[in-house]
Amino acid sequence: MTLTLQLKSSEWREHLARTAADVPGLVPVAKGNGYGFGLERLAREAVDLPVDCMAVGTLPEVAGVRDGGWGGDVVVLTPWCAADGVAGLDDPGLILTVARGEDLTALRAARPKSRVILELLTSMRRHGLGLAELNAAFADLGELRHEGWTIHLPIAHQNAFEEARILAAAAQEVAPSLLWLSHLPMADLKVLDALHNGQTRYRMGTGLWLGAPSTRRTMARVLDVHHVRRGDRIGYWQHPMPTAGSVAVISGGTAHGVALSAPTAGSSVKQRLASMVTGSMEAMGFALSPFTVDGRKRFFVEPPHMQSSLIFLPRKAHVRIGEMVPVELRLTTATVDRIEDDCSW
Ligand SMILES: *Cc1c(COP(=O)(O)O)cnc(C)c1O
Repeated sequence: MTLTLQLKSSEWREHLARTAADVPGLVPVAKGNGYGFGLERLAREAVDLPVDCMAVGTLPEVAGVRDGGWGGDVVVLTPWCAADGVAGLDDPGLILTVARGEDLTALRAARPKSRVILELLTSMRRHGLGLAELNAAFADLGELRHEGWTIHLPIAHQNAFEEARILAAAAQEVAPSLLWLSHLPMADLKVLDALHNGQTRYRMGTGLWLGAPSTRRTMARVLDVHHVRRGDRIGYWQHPMPTAGSVAVISGGTAHGVALSAPTAGSSVKQRLASMVTGSMEAMGFALSPFTVDGRKRFFVEPPHMQSSLIFLPRKAHVRIGEMVPVELRLTTATVDRIEDDCSW
């Protein structure tokens, strides 16, 4: 029962290398589900890139990139908070983010030689020190090693560059140091990097690991097929089948991140025509699945099970037990069973 992420590995790695060459101060981000690849795999890939620092989301994720063989510096993006305690802070490559004056004071008391990046509050209003607090925070560092300032901008931003420019200038006035940025258009990043003499670092996850979408695809296996008659009751919930056809059992369920997708109202003529065909299934309460069988997205018989899904197929659809079929997954929320390297298609 395998949901597989297939890679054109060398083309994917060419994209990673090109990105690393193009982005000044690239810091690969590996967090959460490792963008579908897992933290260890991303760490192994980062080892081969010309970068000296990775970023993870949380402190426990540091172990994931260490297990993947990453020996360089690791920035933890979620700000350290006094309530977190000092477990896990002994790694000499660890760089913590601190976003509140109280936490800085607590860290100085608990681990006075830690390496820290101070976070500035942006229009995202998630974490960070206000501009008026920067001087006091910097003065409160004691023996803590200041590794720079971080500015985390919203993705949807009218004028990201202007905000980044103002915050960066304010921080540099307090103390010239590295500027850690994310979610800036590349042209803006390059201008800022030139303004600050190559002192910018740029964190990137999605664009790095999930760029070049043509170098990967996610495939699911058809595990079984049963013929059904109109009105037959199928599955956990015993829904009656709308017409005769078949039910395919396909690998991929909630544990893999396969979810019911809400049918969307089509707007283009082509979409409307398509929904005249599929509309009757939708009207009967069936949801479109992310599985493509015989060239078309097919409908779920019922919500996905934990590791497989029941998919309704009309009589004319061709399907073969054992074949691999495309499944559309959002890799930031997916867990695949297997990554297959050096594929071609
Ligand atoms: C997750 C994260 C990133 C990476 O975001 P992508 O959109 O995946 O590139 C960058 N910076 C910070 C602070 C993050 O938390």
